[in-house]
Amino acid sequence: MDGRITVVEGDITSQDTDAIVNAANTTLLGGGGVDGAIHRAAGPELLAECRTLGGAQTGEAKVTRGHRLPARYVIHTPGPVWHGGRSNEAELLASCYRNSFALAQDVGARTIAFPTISTGIYRYPIEQATAIAVREARRALAAELVQKVRFVCFSHRDAEVYRRELATRPR
Ligand code: ADP
Repeated sequence: MDGRITVVEGDITSQDTDAIVNAANTTLLGGGGVDGAIHRAAGPELLAECRTLGGAQTGEAKVTRGHRLPARYVIHTPGPVWHGGRSNEAELLASCYRNSFALAQDVGARTIAFPTISTGIYRYPIEQATAIAVREARRALAAELVQKVRFVCFSHRDAEVYRRELATRPR
């Protein structure tokens, strides 16, 4: 198990990492779930900044300041909607993580916190999504794109899935 990856149960908006990741939608103009929580906590200045970004495609990532959040940056990435697994969902979800890590490196964010992208309203199965998240985190750490990765789970059940995945050998 890699000590540079941690799992916490909690609210992503209170994380003190350099960057937090938002499971956004393609408009980047806010929504439900974790997206709504991040916008409420960051304040209206976040939406104003997001309006300048022109949206993002599924799997892309764009960065803003954190505004009223403890985190300096928010990396917004629209995850794929789960359609059964044959619509390129796995590659798109991996792209969310890869592009988020690349942006973190670009802005100099050394610590980053992720929610469980796509596993809420977008219905991506948690076990499969977690395998992708952990694999991409291990790669990003090996490539030294960031120094620490925190997975922030909203439920005990999700955190258990992450802990189980982290206990497995890299694949
Ligand atoms: P998506 O549309 O990508 O599926 P959701 O926001 O619906 O995104 O859900 C992603 C995950 O984020 C879900 O497990 C949800 O319970 C969780 N979540 C919701 N609010 C928060 C929060 N404040 N902090 C961390 N995770 C959250």
